[in-house]
Amino acid sequence: MKYEEIYRATLEKWGAEAQYDQAVEECAELIASLKHFRRDKVDEEAVIAELADVTLMVGQLTYMFGPDKVGAAIESKLDKLKRLLSEP
Ligand SMILES: [Mg+2]
Repeated sequence: MKYEEIYRATLEKWGAEAQYDQAVEECAELIASLKHFRRDKVDEEAVIAELADVTLMVGQLTYMFGPDKVGAAIESKLDKLKRLLSEP
């Protein structure tokens, strides 16, 4: 099953509001795991698991808001980053 099919099925089953809430929750879990990782309370695997959750939610939200629009925003951000990196 392609990612887009999973995102579509997830949206159809649970709805947009649930996806927003889930994205917020997964971001919070990644934040917590990074803080714990810095204090040696969790291992790298725990952070990677939360990173996977957030990556999937970013994919879900990107599907919902429009991959083309998100792609264009990413290009714009990368251009800005490249400019900053080229400054002395
Ligand atoms: Mg999680």
